Amino acid sequence: FKKIPARSHNQDELSQMTATFNRMVDRLEESFQSQQQFVSDASHELNTTLMIIEGYANMLRRWGTRDEEIYKESLESIYEETQRMRTMTRQLLTLASSQQEEPEPYERIELIGCCGQIIAHLKPVHDRQITIFTDEKEIWFDANLVKIKQLLVILLDNALKYSSDPIEILLSTDEKDVHIRVKDYGIGIPEGEVKRVFERFYRVDSSRHRKTGGTGLGLPIAKAITDVHQGTIRIDSVEGEGTEVIVTLPRRQQEGLSPR
Ligand code: ADP
Repeated sequence: FKKIPARSHNQDELSQMTATFNRMVDRLEESFQSQQQFVSDASHELNTTLMIIEGYANMLRRWGTRDEEIYKESLESIYEETQRMRTMTRQLLTLASSQQEEPEPYERIELIGCCGQIIAHLKPVHDRQITIFTDEKEIWFDANLVKIKQLLVILLDNALKYSSDPIEILLSTDEKDVHIRVKDYGIGIPEGEVKRVFERFYRVDSSRHRKTGGTGLGLPIAKAITDVHQGTIRIDSVEGEGTEVIVTLPRRQQEGLSPR
């Protein structure tokens, strides 16, 4: 793209059009660069995982038949890294679909029941205590059910991965919004890093998270989901004490509501 040179025109209208056009070019360039960065980060992440798989496959080929320890460790690691790659590719697809700007099919959702269902689904996998706190009997709002479930699963999955104590979900409403707070008492996030965790592929300590199976894509997906619902997401965290993720979503969607 080439910007129009900002010459001093007598006609106000023309210089205004030039300024608007130049702003559009800036925004397009920014978005193009961010797409390029994304493709490069995604390739890097997938490539790293493939290199690890290749390394273990080589170990297996060379020593696996003679050394049972190496045989077991290599097979286990290849399996784990393959799982990680599957998670990452699935999340990349989710992220792409979450950023589509087409109107979502919204419906009326009852939030307390929805959280209860997700806790029940997670129970056999984790068997940890997740408790809902709320003063309301029912909380209804307009949203895309699939995406809201994805959002809740991401936040709970993080709380499960990065803490070992019980987890709390606090639900409340005001006139305009519903508020969802997912609170854990785990490792927390260092102060300087909180603002970075919504960046794609960002992990506080990548070596630590290879063990927990993290990809750095969960929170960016959560952010894309709240954005598309015209809501907000923020994190309060104290390292060593715990983390609270606070999501606010409008009760009524203004635009793009396609009732079923
Ligand atoms: P990941 O798949 O690595 O969990 P996310 O995008 O969901 O990716 O989170 C990015 C990073 O933010 C994580 O790697 C972790 O370092 C940090 N993080 C997210 N949630 C929590 C939490 N509840 N407690 C502590 N750290 C967290």
